[in-house]
Amino acid sequence: MQQDVIIIGGSYAGMAAALQLLRARRRVLIIDEGIRRNRFASHSHGFIGQDGVDPAEIAATARKQLLAYPTLTWVDGRAETVSGEKDAFTVTTSDGSTHEGRRLLFATGVKDGLPAIDGLAERWGRSAFHCPYCHGYELNEGEIAVIASSPMSIHQAQLITEWGKVTVLTNGFVTPDADARADLARRGVTIEETPIARLEGHADVVLADGRRLAFAGLFVATRTTPASDIAERFGCEIEETPMGLQIKVTAAKETTVPGTFACGDVGRVPHSVSLAVGDGAWAGAQLHRSLVF
Ligand code: FAD
Ligand code: MG
Repeated sequence: MQQDVIIIGGSYAGMAAALQLLRARRRVLIIDEGIRRNRFASHSHGFIGQDGVDPAEIAATARKQLLAYPTLTWVDGRAETVSGEKDAFTVTTSDGSTHEGRRLLFATGVKDGLPAIDGLAERWGRSAFHCPYCHGYELNEGEIAVIASSPMSIHQAQLITEWGKVTVLTNGFVTPDADARADLARRGVTIEETPIARLEGHADVVLADGRRLAFAGLFVATRTTPASDIAERFGCEIEETPMGLQIKVTAAKETTVPGTFACGDVGRVPHSVSLAVGDGAWAGAQLHRSLVF
């Protein structure tokens, strides 16, 4: 059976798009591997009505509500390849089955490239984060480390003083100039230029000279890249953003390949659950219009 829209990625953005289409009684297939970007965190913050809720629970509730619509088909699995063209796309999943659809939506999310610091990956989403709006409040205005990963980390340290007492660990990635040093001093930021040896405990930074600094939490800017290269392999143009790479889209969320769309973290910056949901809702309506007009 031909679907109106095949959605690759059934997390916040993909499900928000699906909801609009299902409520317009369109046939929708969601193919989802279930590897959400925020799977490392036990609490999600900043999305109204769901503040502090387990991100898996937010997704599970949404999925349950979507499955009440009779025109939805859900496949748990990985979409491997896309072929065809507008009104006649084929998606093949990793088990070899094929699915036909008139339109495609990539809601495949991004992955975080973490700097290679011993102990960082284990703390990601627990005591090490990228977004202060998501996880800054819970640090209770305590001691916060900003681990530099790019020249943008100075800007991040300046902003994060809104959430606590900041130490910026330059770790060889950035050397603040005189203006930056003066600005950081004015904001009460401590600059630590000794390289990081490793992380230990809750959020302790052990420096190369053996000193140990204890923090309530750590922030580090990651470089984000599409979690899946399926859109790129199909020919969708990828573009550089201040945060990494994303699929290039128009204001209507259509990619450079006609009939294919992208939304959520893989199709916009910056990134959050609220923004992914808003972007998905908009993409769903735009997909619907492209089927009607
Ligand atoms: P995702 O949620 O990443 O979902 C993408 C989906 O597509 C996944 O299920 C994936 O498996 C699937 N997929 C990808 N490729 C394929 C394929 N080829 N075939 C099938 N399925 C595929 N935001 C907040 O608002 N509040 C927070 O508190 C918060 N905390 C965070 C904590 C951490 C540690 C991190 C890393 C992020 C956090 N975020 C938070 C950001 C939030 O996770 C993202 O903005 C949000 O998940 C984006 O939603 P999305 O639907 O675009 O992508
Ligand atoms: Mg999604």
